[in-house]
Amino acid sequence: MASTDQLTFTDPVTRFPDITPPKQDQSEPGLDAELIPGTDRGEDSYRGTGRLEGRRALITGADSGIGAAVAIAFAREGADVALNYLPQEEKDAQHIAEVIRRTGRRAILLPGDLTDASFCRSLVEEAVRELGGLDALVNNAGRQIAVESLEELEDEQWTTTYEVNIHAMYRITKAGLAHLPAGSTIVNTTSIQAYEPSTTLIDYASTKAAINNFSKGLAQQLAPKGIRVNAVAPGPIWTPLQVSDGQPKEALPEFGKSTPLGRAGQPTELAPAYVFLTSPESSYVLGETLHVNGGSPTP
Ligand code: NAD
Ligand code: MG
Repeated sequence: MASTDQLTFTDPVTRFPDITPPKQDQSEPGLDAELIPGTDRGEDSYRGTGRLEGRRALITGADSGIGAAVAIAFAREGADVALNYLPQEEKDAQHIAEVIRRTGRRAILLPGDLTDASFCRSLVEEAVRELGGLDALVNNAGRQIAVESLEELEDEQWTTTYEVNIHAMYRITKAGLAHLPAGSTIVNTTSIQAYEPSTTLIDYASTKAAINNFSKGLAQQLAPKGIRVNAVAPGPIWTPLQVSDGQPKEALPEFGKSTPLGRAGQPTELAPAYVFLTSPESSYVLGETLHVNGGSPTP
């Protein structure tokens, strides 16, 4: 473990380097293993304090970026974790599974494509079977492809972005309800794009607004059952999403520099928000969107 962890007081401006990523391109989905510079997912720094002892969690998009950082943090906090990702991401997933197993917790690998409605349902059943139940769900998988104009935005992209980002969230959550007992939690990954849509992300940003709204409505519906639903809204976080056409290439070197903190966020900086919303200490927090964005004002 590194000498500093997320519980060490530091200057947030300099806690992580102000990166200037070179222009680069990966095919979708990108791999953390090939990202330049690499990211911090907390492998060497996240320190658990027993806040998720015995939880059984399913996390989508858990091979890389934010989902991987959340998976590592959940394991360090005492949870067993089922990880979903695309089959092409096996290399990243194996790395995260190894980190989790070194922590002494179980990592269940469940690759598959969330655009397949029947897979979304079988994913939940498989996670429940392998983990022996389910009490924490993190809907984090997402797809982001920048397109300059609406005229160039194809039907196929529009539909696939909606399938991955919001339809799968509805299907997985619905399947999860058959298993989630009182005291369970659901955390959905939305985005600052829900409030400040980029001109190149019309499809993506509108799914993120939908996720926010879905989370706030469902939180009220499930509250009487003792199931809490919340969301996390990241700002610019350095992950493979950005180099697999998530941003126009020329925007990469400046990524995150316009935030008040002046730098991109690292995936591990997101993990405490998901831990908080999944842990019992947030018992009175429902329908909240927790912003982790380097200081950009939000409604
Ligand atoms: P990432 O590329 O590391 O993670 C996205 C994951 O989504 C991939 O690893 C992949 O496993 C999964 N995914 C994509 N299409 C899929 C499909 N068809 N089936 C199954 N899984 C699929 O990037 P990330 O930035 O960590 O993204 C995680 C979440 O954070 C996403 O919902 C993204 O929209 C959101 N987010 C990211 C940022 C950012 O700046 N990186 C900002 C706001 C919100
Ligand atoms: Mg990935």
